[in-house]
Amino acid sequence: MNSYQETMYLLKKYHLTASKKLGQNFLIDDEVIAGIVDAAQITKEDLVIEIGPGLGTLTQCLLEKAKKVIAIELDTRMITILQDRFKLYSNFTVIEQDILKVNLQKLIEQENCLSVKIVANLPYYITTPIVMKLLEDKLPVASITIMVQKEVAQRLTAKTGERLSGSITYAIDYYSKARNILTVPSKSFIPEPKVDSQVIQLQIRDNPCVKVKDEKLFFEMIQLAFMQRRKTFLNAVSQKLEKTTMQKILQNLHIDENIRGENLTIEQFAEITNQIFEKNVASQ
Ligand code: SAM
Repeated sequence: MNSYQETMYLLKKYHLTASKKLGQNFLIDDEVIAGIVDAAQITKEDLVIEIGPGLGTLTQCLLEKAKKVIAIELDTRMITILQDRFKLYSNFTVIEQDILKVNLQKLIEQENCLSVKIVANLPYYITTPIVMKLLEDKLPVASITIMVQKEVAQRLTAKTGERLSGSITYAIDYYSKARNILTVPSKSFIPEPKVDSQVIQLQIRDNPCVKVKDEKLFFEMIQLAFMQRRKTFLNAVSQKLEKTTMQKILQNLHIDENIRGENLTIEQFAEITNQIFEKNVASQ
């Protein structure tokens, strides 16, 4: 059976309809599934963590390639199906939980695997919190290969300081190297989402791409700048820092004081926050 036939068969067998609330759009395109698995370059050394396995279409291919697959799914109805479908696979575990509440660090430690990869056709309603969690948890993973909405993919893979970037672009760039893998039309899913999708891959860096003296301050400044992205950077961050101090810092760094935060590169954000940090330390 191909993945379209399998999906239709399972939906009928278990009298299921996709839950809109849980972002259920099941992948039914074998070429796309093969593309995701190929891009993730899974080997028999790898522990794969799959977020939102749904009916298990992608999971099936992951199980053939990986040492072990741990799938995390919120929908109880899917758990029964997955347990039944993969009962003969000794390398499959499913956890019924909200991905945002799972202690992934602990989960990975318990498995003692040489290499860990995350693969998912993400539920779109929580793409940003999931991506931020995966990055901020600083997990020992090699790569994150995910399907997201196409327009979200454009933001995630944009260059910092350019038009399509958002605050999340800086977090992505800080922790990883992002690349586009393939564009996926809405007809590759049941039910069809309203927009096209994109598979992207984040390759986790050994060290962040810029040296930052205070990470919390660095991300706080980026957040402030993007909360009011139409304002100049100077005005956007004025609640956090005296205007004259910030003017001096920008002058020192030869940055135009009328620049908007969205036009600052990640290197410039790092330089600015490092100078704020040093001033704070000096004045203590
Ligand atoms: N992987 C399947 C596929 O490609 O056909 C299903 C993908 S579907 C876009 C997203 C999946 O994530 C659904 O199975 C949904 O139930 C699950 N999901 C939604 N919210 C979740 C959460 N907070 N934690 C874990 N899984 C979740």
